[in-house]
Amino acid sequence: MRFGIRAQILLVVGVILVLALVPLFFAVSSLARATLMQVSDGNARALGRAVAGHVSEARQHREAASLALLLEAQVGGVVGGISVYDAAGRQAASAAAADMRAALPHTVSVAREEALVVELTRGRAMRVVVPGNGGAVAVVIHTDPEAARVAPLTRLVGLYTGLLGLALLVFIYLVLTRVVVRPIDDLSRAARRVADGTRQLPVGAAGARELSALGDSLAAMTATLRAEEEQLREKVAEIEAANVQLSDAQDSLVRTERLASVGRLAAGLAHEIGNPISAIMGFQELMLDGELSQKEERDFLERMKRETERVHRVLRDLLDFARPAARGLEPVSVEAPACSLREVGEHVLALVRPQRKFSDIDLSTDWAESLPAIAMRREHIEQVLLNLLLNAADAVASNDRRIWLKATRGDGHVRVTVEDSGGGIVPSVRGRLFEPFVTTKDVGEGTGLGLAVCRGLLESAGGRIEAEDGEFGARFVLHLPSVAPSTAED
Ligand code: ADP
Repeated sequence: MRFGIRAQILLVVGVILVLALVPLFFAVSSLARATLMQVSDGNARALGRAVAGHVSEARQHREAASLALLLEAQVGGVVGGISVYDAAGRQAASAAAADMRAALPHTVSVAREEALVVELTRGRAMRVVVPGNGGAVAVVIHTDPEAARVAPLTRLVGLYTGLLGLALLVFIYLVLTRVVVRPIDDLSRAARRVADGTRQLPVGAAGARELSALGDSLAAMTATLRAEEEQLREKVAEIEAANVQLSDAQDSLVRTERLASVGRLAAGLAHEIGNPISAIMGFQELMLDGELSQKEERDFLERMKRETERVHRVLRDLLDFARPAARGLEPVSVEAPACSLREVGEHVLALVRPQRKFSDIDLSTDWAESLPAIAMRREHIEQVLLNLLLNAADAVASNDRRIWLKATRGDGHVRVTVEDSGGGIVPSVRGRLFEPFVTTKDVGEGTGLGLAVCRGLLESAGGRIEAEDGEFGARFVLHLPSVAPSTAED
């Protein structure tokens, strides 16, 4: 349990008051008691002396019997006992209340007056011995009734001290509530409202100077925070707008890269299409001359059909590759139909092999038996393999141009490596190879997007791509996600 500031201060003040007022109370009541006892002793001595004088006076004219009666008559009220002593100081006659007998001695000194405080089992008394008329008289006076008058005074002082302490605590409570607690409560309520979304921190003027200064500082801080929040919001809006622009720019660059690779592909395919078309045109001219036999015409038509089919196949491959679905820009959530890696790989190889760039490259493949189907879009695998093969072809030197394509079965994936006999990865780009726009190629030849696009396509399908040093040149390692073993195709 935690006490509030008011309770803690009250507790401390309460302890201080107890420490200060209790000793004060005891000091005052002791002083009052001592003063009263002094007065009471003085009174008792005076009374004792008066009674002793009176008895001493009376003993001259009385017989022993009537003296005893006189003494008896004097005892009562505050006079506890009286004794008469002869010239030798021996007790001649005495009368006393039962509890006072012990206070009257059998012998006294008759030479001088004496006043003594006597502590008895039942209270306190004053014994006064007064010499006179050939002897002495001793009188015992009760002082207790006087002392008893101290008690109400002590109670009064106690009551006064208690009430003073209580009044002080109530006063401090009220002052603390008004000057400290209420302003702090107001501040904390206002701060909570700000935390809940209120845009202003209204600060009351009440309370101690320091607290109102604190309130002003909090209000200033809230205003600053609000201004900063506003700035932050504007910055976030700017960043969001910049992000949208950036992603548009990226999309367009990815498309540009796509077009560039298609362009490179198209250049290689030009002679694939050009050759059959020249052949077809030659056959047409011969047929138009009309000098062919029916058999020769049929043979030419069949050749033209074969050449046309070749052109058709090449164009279909190109369109397959270039159609929008192959861009890699679709949402990742599109469920990938399983496809056979070997089939896709052979298809890509059929596309690149006829190109001039690959004409003198020794492109060897090694497909492991029973490869599982790949859980990735066919077009995406095609694009990744195509990018890597085109890069490898760019990298291999003029002589001993070799590229190895290898696929092995992994745990939950298929491991594909594309290795070449080129000069390897340039150290300056090694750490940033898969970042967009990182290229070592001349302007117009490379955009630096190919590997970034590959990584994006693979990671969106749950796979990954890494680059490492191969035996001769660079080696790119792909981990393609495979589907469940039951759907294995090869
Ligand atoms: P681009 O081919 O347009 O430069 P990429 O992202 O495909 O863009 O490649 C980025 C860079 O990675 C290349 O410029 C090249 O320096 C390096 N690189 C890619 N493949 C190879 C490879 N097989 N051998 C050596 N370096 C390579």
